[in-house]
Amino acid sequence: MSFSVKFWGVRGSLPSAPSPTAWTYHIEGVLRNFFSMGYRDSSQVTKYIQSLEEPILGGYGSATTCVELNHGNSQIIIDGGSGIRSLSERIMSGTAGRVKGPFHIFMTHFHWDHVIGLPFFTPHFIPGNEIHYYAVQPELEQLIRGVFKKPYFPVPFESLKAKVIFHVLEPRKPIKVGDFTVTPYQLDHPDPCWGFRVEAAGKSYAHCVDTEGTRVTQEELGPDLPLYKNADLMYFDAQYTLPELAEKANWGHSAAQVGLEIAFRENIKRVLFAHHDPGARTDHVLELRRQTKEYYDAVSKAAESNQEKLPPIQWDFAHEGLEVTL
Ligand SMILES: [Zn+2]
Ligand SMILES: [Zn+2]
Repeated sequence: MSFSVKFWGVRGSLPSAPSPTAWTYHIEGVLRNFFSMGYRDSSQVTKYIQSLEEPILGGYGSATTCVELNHGNSQIIIDGGSGIRSLSERIMSGTAGRVKGPFHIFMTHFHWDHVIGLPFFTPHFIPGNEIHYYAVQPELEQLIRGVFKKPYFPVPFESLKAKVIFHVLEPRKPIKVGDFTVTPYQLDHPDPCWGFRVEAAGKSYAHCVDTEGTRVTQEELGPDLPLYKNADLMYFDAQYTLPELAEKANWGHSAAQVGLEIAFRENIKRVLFAHHDPGARTDHVLELRRQTKEYYDAVSKAAESNQEKLPPIQWDFAHEGLEVTL
């Protein structure tokens, strides 16, 4: 049985797709690249497309945070950003065999970008379904009810056909959901936001979005350090460049370099960076990736010259639809 993690939405703050002008500019680049790589006719298009990384062709996606974790018959969902609409479509298509649920949705916090998709999660409207919500925030029930409220949404919470059950979590106390053990740890965000360490079959996933990463050292992290320790995969907030991070202190988002520092020290094997800025087009995220590589190489080289061997970290910037197996 494998532990898989699928990213249905990786953007931050607001769903944001390229404008028609930006798409036109992008397509022009893709076409120019086709010819500059020596391809000449339409029979070579598939080969060309297969030679490119998916985000270079299709971008990083427009939907906001929603992550699905599966292990055997166990499933949990983290956050209900606009990405949950596509997950809902997949569920309703029946191809994943889970139309009836129950569904388990863990909420990090309640900023718009993490709740905006919830009314579009169709299982809410199916009689006989059970939907469980989990969060540390004691106002969980009131906050979810508020999402299904006129005039913001036409169907009030009281009219939902599914049975909705709320579970207020204790900070740093594990809870079992099917095969998964989920433990909430606090992140660094202006409104309280809780990351989750999810474990199954000896593998671990650390969900660290949204966070500014203002506490970096082990002493500063204190009781929240176990979120990161030896994680097989960390999903980390990298909305900003390092200079932007300095300008946007207390905005609650971080930079990839901060995540790498934690990953090196805590022996994290793989890192995916996300919460891409709504204004960040493909070129911008690729530039963040370039800067991150520069940083990663410099740190590794510095360690080598000190006769230290840093553990290699597999890292990248996440794109919508990415699925990884731990
Ligand atoms: Zn966010
Ligand atoms: Zn937030």
